[in-house]
Amino acid sequence: MSCIFCQIVNKKIFADIVYEDDNVLAFKDIEPQAPVHLLVIPKQHIESLDDMINIKNSIISDIFNVIYKLAKDYNLGSGFRVITNYGKDAGQTVNHLHFHLLGKKLFDNKF
Ligand code: AMP
Ligand code: ZN
Repeated sequence: MSCIFCQIVNKKIFADIVYEDDNVLAFKDIEPQAPVHLLVIPKQHIESLDDMINIKNSIISDIFNVIYKLAKDYNLGSGFRVITNYGKDAGQTVNHLHFHLLGKKLFDNKF
């Protein structure tokens, strides 16, 4: 299996996991861009937003429920960012759908 995030899901490679349930996994980004930088992913290998739209299941709301819970757990009440990069122009490097949760940083740019 070549997908690095699937390998994290299957515990074949180490990640600092901060949340796990049947459908969703969250772990610390290996190259953090903010004091809090977590990745929230479906356990199922969903390549990208295209597949997510086609699958039409509840995974997106599951993911955002986890994001909301983690934002509370990490005391991000004063603000945080949720980012998903789509495609090479956006710099997507891992083809397993993932949402970055960034916080504990003053973001001086809007985008
Ligand atoms: P993206 O560039 O949006 O595709 O994001 C991929 C993210 O995955 C990057 O922020 C990487 O630092 C992160 N990443 C890659 N490999 C690992 C890993 N083994 N453990 C944790 N984070 C990783
Ligand atoms: Zn995968």
